[in-house]
Amino acid sequence: MLPRRLHELPPTAGLPLRLTDLCPGAATLAAGIAAQLGTPPLQLECSGTAALLITLTTLRELQPQRRRVVIPAFTCPLVAIAVQQAGLELQLCDLRAGHYDMDATALRAACDERTLAIIPTHLAGRVADVDAAFAAARSVGAYVIEDAAQALGARRNGVSVGLAGDVGFFSLAVGKGLSIYEGGLLLARDPGMREHLARTAARIVPHSLGWEWKRSIELLAYAALYRPRGLRLAYGDPLRRALRRGDPVAAVGDDFPLTIPLHRVGHWRQAVGAHAAARLPAFLDQLSAQAQRRLPRLRRIDGVEVLDDPTNARGTWPFFLLMLPDRQHRDAALAELWQAGLGVSRLFIHALPDYDYLRDIVPTQAVPNARDFAARSLTISNSLWLNDGDFETICGVLETAFA
Ligand SMILES: *Cc1c(COP(=O)(O)O)cnc(C)c1O
Repeated sequence: MLPRRLHELPPTAGLPLRLTDLCPGAATLAAGIAAQLGTPPLQLECSGTAALLITLTTLRELQPQRRRVVIPAFTCPLVAIAVQQAGLELQLCDLRAGHYDMDATALRAACDERTLAIIPTHLAGRVADVDAAFAAARSVGAYVIEDAAQALGARRNGVSVGLAGDVGFFSLAVGKGLSIYEGGLLLARDPGMREHLARTAARIVPHSLGWEWKRSIELLAYAALYRPRGLRLAYGDPLRRALRRGDPVAAVGDDFPLTIPLHRVGHWRQAVGAHAAARLPAFLDQLSAQAQRRLPRLRRIDGVEVLDDPTNARGTWPFFLLMLPDRQHRDAALAELWQAGLGVSRLFIHALPDYDYLRDIVPTQAVPNARDFAARSLTISNSLWLNDGDFETICGVLETAFA
């Protein structure tokens, strides 16, 4: 194992907050992001999952006879939890072999007149095949919800992701780029749909001083600790403790509560987000430039495949998502790197049917490609704090893992 360092790198590239971001200001977060992305007005919610829950509640009212929601079998457990909380039925779709997209044949087979919505997912900043999901959805009269939780700023055919489907959402959670500790943004190209989403939120989302206090204190702690010295305490040490007790699900934070809180986002957190958002376009450009410099080096490593976007798309680069030849090689590389503080980690630990704590929510289903994806994938941070020397150390370990 590599020697432990004083400085800990985060697994994804978040936009660091500045002291001046914490000053009071105008609550223009949603409007600022909409202007940057060139989208219609965005609707701010207390998390990406809350945004999804509001979407599902809305679509259910529009098509009350439809109850099934089709999601990729390898995605964030929160997506499954939202479907359950909306009172809908989960239908998993296996992945395309070695890819984050849903398999087209499996997708068509999963859809019928009971399908309410399909959720293509822009995983790791990479852009998903929304067209295939759209074709499958329209053939049965279902909606498309783009899960762009990890892809704020990604573009497809020159426009922001989230606008090709009926509804899309971004996450502003910790670890997802721009963060107000927990938050989410809803977008929809159709004004009627936007109005409907706003009405649903007005009806089901309460004010909660308690939640807003909690999130405000968490945001302050995030602002203080999201730097190489603080991350050891806030991220690295808990990660290593979880791995020592053999709990990888806790190590990557896949162990979510089964109830999703709904509350309004307060003025101060919106102002903090609005201050930080002014630096977002330049930050995303820097990440993209660093990624383009480092991708060729990663691709030279035998046996490593780095996932990239389709030709009509430009994703964002919070981290690199790699596929290794098999579980043995992936685990050998992780044994060296996971605890080293170098920002190497895993995305989600399991395919959805394999989480013990989701047993009552997720149907048991054969999803071999999703399982294979969980077994062979590994992530490398694209944080700007990860310098060329650190990056070369990681590449060197990957090379010896195959030698
Ligand atoms: C994080 C995430 C979500 C949920 O977003 P939150 O803001 O954390 O609630 C949904 N889908 C994917 C793919 C995610 O990574």
